[in-house]
Amino acid sequence: MLRSTLLKLSESQGFARWVTSNQTTRRMSHRFVAGEELDEAIAAARVCNNRGMLVSLDYLGENVATAADAQRARNAYLEVFDRIAAEKLNANVSCKLTQLGLDLSPEFCQGQVLSIVERAALYDNFLRVDMEGSAYTEGTIDVVKKVRLRSPAIGTVIQSYLYRSEQDVLDLLAIGCRIRLCKGAYQEPPQVAYPKKEDVDANYLKLARLLLLSGFYHGIATHDPRMIGATIRMAAENKVAKDDFEFQMLYGVRTDLQRQLVRDGYRLRIYIPYGRDWFPYFMRRLAERPANLGFFVRNFFR
Ligand SMILES: Cc1cc2nc3c(=O)[nH]c(=O)nc-3n(C[C@H](O)[C@H](O)[C@H](O)COP(=O)(O)OP(=O)(O)OC[C@H]3O[C@@H](n4cnc5c(N)ncnc54)[C@H](O)[C@@H]3O)c2cc1C
Repeated sequence: MLRSTLLKLSESQGFARWVTSNQTTRRMSHRFVAGEELDEAIAAARVCNNRGMLVSLDYLGENVATAADAQRARNAYLEVFDRIAAEKLNANVSCKLTQLGLDLSPEFCQGQVLSIVERAALYDNFLRVDMEGSAYTEGTIDVVKKVRLRSPAIGTVIQSYLYRSEQDVLDLLAIGCRIRLCKGAYQEPPQVAYPKKEDVDANYLKLARLLLLSGFYHGIATHDPRMIGATIRMAAENKVAKDDFEFQMLYGVRTDLQRQLVRDGYRLRIYIPYGRDWFPYFMRRLAERPANLGFFVRNFFR
């Protein structure tokens, strides 16, 4: 109930304006967002690298309304790849296709993604296309597959809460596409997604097995100790080496577990978001764990 209210609120422009212009909530967003400027994200990435963690930088933004906004986002991503190379960071980049114009035209969006992937390839780097709500699943996978035919420097994300995901995994593996597996962060109807957490988790483990045994390098993105423990066991049983996959976690979430995985010799990538358009991302993080909301309300009134 609380989760769906928060996810609904994440689409409210009026609430977004209030939250993002308020000094207190802006400060509180730093729990999950590195800052509003690229320099702040670079500094956070440096800290992670120094702790033995890999990074994925995400310039926040989604559902742009004009081609000019989409092109500005593309330029920001080109700059991120240039900065990562100049700063010698061990980092790749994550983006959302609705930020790059998917709502305007899939062909236009594909051209934008291709130009970013070409810049990534220039530096021997990698672009990860995040997965958004189910209205965009087909369109996102379609763009990724087309760009993947031109360059291996692109991969995408699969959400275990969707019924369709097993088939999507098989299709993407058939073209050697690298996948990040997550549970899924959006409000979805029971027609397309498992309503029960136990089914989402069971599907997560089923898909994680497909990824681990595929022979390609993938990302297991979760903070759930049960998913992490099962992945570690599955990898050991099937002689999948620690270097053949990576765990991924969000900036500011379960930092204890992050440090533990690095201590145990696993590869761990931290997803570091930055930018002014942090509101929907921030709301999804609150929705994932209702206790976060209490924490923020208490801090707000303090
Ligand atoms: C690197 C990365 C990239 C992602 N990319 C996408 C994407 O492209 N598309 C998409 O739909 N989703 C994405 N997600 C979000 C994902 O789908 C889940 O919503 C999120 O990771 C919570 O699920 P969980 O696997 O951690 O398990 P859960 O069962 O939700 O949580 C397990 C435990 O993790 C901790 N935890 C989880 N979330 C939080 C939080 N916000 N704050 C504090 N503690 C928390 C709690 O201790 C909780 O008990 C991504 C997640 C990660 C880690």
